[in-house]
Amino acid sequence: MTTNLPSSVDVAVIGAGAAGLGAARTLANSGLSVVVLEARERIGGRAHTIMAAPGIPFDLGCEWLHSADKNDFVGIAKQLGFVVDTSRPPWREQTYDVAFTKAQRAEFFAAIDAFYVRAEEAAENDVDAPAATCLAPDNPWNPMIDAVSTYINGFELKDVSLHDMDAYEDTEVNWRLPDGYGALISAYGAPCPVALNTEVTVIDHSGARVRIETSRGTLSAAKVIVCVPTNLIAHESIRFDPPLPAKVDAAAGLPLGADNKVMLALNDAGKWPADIGLRGAQMRTGIGSFHLRPSGRPCIAGFYGGTFARELEDAGEGALAAQSIDEIVSLLGSDIRGKLTPLAESRWCHDRFAQGAYSAAKPGHAGARAVLAAPVNGRLFFAGEATSPNFFSTAHGARESGVRAAREVMAA
Ligand SMILES: Cc1cc2nc3c(=O)[nH]c(=O)nc-3n(C[C@H](O)[C@H](O)[C@H](O)COP(=O)(O)OP(=O)(O)OC[C@H]3O[C@@H](n4cnc5c(N)ncnc54)[C@H](O)[C@@H]3O)c2cc1C
Repeated sequence: MTTNLPSSVDVAVIGAGAAGLGAARTLANSGLSVVVLEARERIGGRAHTIMAAPGIPFDLGCEWLHSADKNDFVGIAKQLGFVVDTSRPPWREQTYDVAFTKAQRAEFFAAIDAFYVRAEEAAENDVDAPAATCLAPDNPWNPMIDAVSTYINGFELKDVSLHDMDAYEDTEVNWRLPDGYGALISAYGAPCPVALNTEVTVIDHSGARVRIETSRGTLSAAKVIVCVPTNLIAHESIRFDPPLPAKVDAAAGLPLGADNKVMLALNDAGKWPADIGLRGAQMRTGIGSFHLRPSGRPCIAGFYGGTFARELEDAGEGALAAQSIDEIVSLLGSDIRGKLTPLAESRWCHDRFAQGAYSAAKPGHAGARAVLAAPVNGRLFFAGEATSPNFFSTAHGARESGVRAAREVMAA
């Protein structure tokens, strides 16, 4: 529900992503007046479904209901009439045998499983370290294990905290929403009072009430819940007055990495199997991971992470699609080139109101999530995926953090 900018409210929520919408929905029957201030012309933030082509919904951001057996969006989806597809993702067993034989896959998965066992053991050490220290020296699969880190963390393992990686709660149940996760989060947020096109620039908490400067004027609030991505706090795109150096430092320790997606239309799709993972046994980190005919649709989805994803995004619109077509041709043969047409791609690092994909703690900074989440003077509250202790980097973790912050507001 869009609303005009009020001059005064009890609670201002900054950012209408899963966290901000979770906070606003929790406050709905509290008796407090609430407004959500959103810089974009839409709600959802990093949850955004577009129609890449008729019949091909495409989630530019969140797509999978991770840890689905502990994910509140599953119940919300059912309540809102969204279909939940509980079939397995094509990340492991259902991988195409082409260019990555069963024997090679067995070797690769044994290597990556052993890496995670070593990482879990090493995380028991009180001293944090880069996750890369748990790679077995000279294992030929190391570059591909690092590629998986770029998909999961947005960074190569050398830039990821072992303690933080260990804190993530992965139940390994991953479901999806054929109509889009972004579409679900928009429907969930639809009743919230949101002032769109309202970019917050300054949060002045020097006076009796908090004064919020926005691109559409100033308002005052008794309490504020800040739900913007960490990079905006770290780069001081939103400024606190008086400054909050502990928050800026915590946010800087939890940078958003690079992850991007591309969608290609596939002509003659019936020739290819549906819902199959596609990647080659290529011993490098800068590679895409592909999903052939997701939900049986006539398309191929691609995913890139880390340094390579950032380089492709910097190279300009179309670079992800061009790279993907070359990689798919190298795996499936030249005939497929003429059957692929670029439809859409994400550009999260260049997105002014995200400045990246999702947060990962730098080595030594796993404790920053709790520092970022802590309220200030009973008036400023913090939510967003990066503040989740166990489900960071996800949409359900973001929503839970918003619910937590709203409860803190009501208790204050
Ligand atoms: C490529 C990609 C794939 C992903 N895949 C998955 C997945 O499969 N499953 C999963 O669970 N998660 C996934 N995620 C992560 C998930 O999308 C995010 O963790 C989650 O959506 C973050 O929600 P949030 O509310 O914390 O932040 P956001 O969604 O970023 O919301 C913050 C809001 O604040 C607004 N804002 C920013 N600056 C200002 C300002 N100055 N003034 C006012 N408003 C402002 C933004 O516009 C935005 O709407 C993926 C993300 C990406 C990028």
